[in-house]
Amino acid sequence: MGEYTRWQIGDVRITKVPETVLHWPWKALVPDVTPELLAATPWMSPHFVDENGKLVLSIHALVIESQGRTIIVDTCIGNDKQRPARAFNELNNPFLETLSDAGFATDAIDTVFCTHLHVDHVGWNTRLVDGKWVPTFTKARHLFARTEYDHWMANDESAYFGDVMGDSVRPIVESGLADFVEIDHRITDEVWLESTPGHTPGHCSVHIASGGQHGVITGDMTHSPIQFAYPLTSTADSNRELADKTRGEFVARYRDTPTLIIGTHFAGPTAGHLVRDGDHIRFDC
Ligand SMILES: [Zn+2]
Repeated sequence: MGEYTRWQIGDVRITKVPETVLHWPWKALVPDVTPELLAATPWMSPHFVDENGKLVLSIHALVIESQGRTIIVDTCIGNDKQRPARAFNELNNPFLETLSDAGFATDAIDTVFCTHLHVDHVGWNTRLVDGKWVPTFTKARHLFARTEYDHWMANDESAYFGDVMGDSVRPIVESGLADFVEIDHRITDEVWLESTPGHTPGHCSVHIASGGQHGVITGDMTHSPIQFAYPLTSTADSNRELADKTRGEFVARYRDTPTLIIGTHFAGPTAGHLVRDGDHIRFDC
């Protein structure tokens, strides 16, 4: 077994399973990040901003083990998917081997939860077998927030993102493996959804609580921890005003608390605490 980043929250173990790491110009995702802001947040370097000043964006899944359940949160980009964006198009990454090496055969996953239904969060729901998209995690219930699913069924954005629903979500529903859940759904006594709308209408983070300890998996409520320090919207936020409000409330809820914040796109150590530092928040890893 290789070395994997893992966290323990009470009795719950969480494992980061990497797919890929992208280095993007800030303007592609968080366009209001300036060199001045980066100079004011030296803690961003080297994990979240590279030596060329680019955003470092990790694509990874997080596997939660709680009360006998094995839950994968977000299933990355996937292989062989036809996508207009080159970074996502027809990939051939060893993600399932990495997952297996981390101790999780695909059959060991009993629950899949996608924080939202964007291209880089649903990909490994399916894989291409004999020209057909078939479920990867055949023993798993796949939980989709009903509001999120209904939104994407009614709004076709396949021209921008590719046929994400058609190749990565609909085959799950058609196989009878999907459950539509409320935005405060409890997966176990220790793991529940925490509604964080704005990035997408039904976006949910994941709250973990066990033995008096707390953690939260962000999803794309934030793409980079610099968004905790300054109110910076993402080009991918569907409702920027609501996304800003949600981020502000999230920071107010968790700053200066022992809650471990685990980023869905944060590279390097990936998890840390929100610590007040002068007038701003520092992400303390
Ligand atoms: Zn994402």
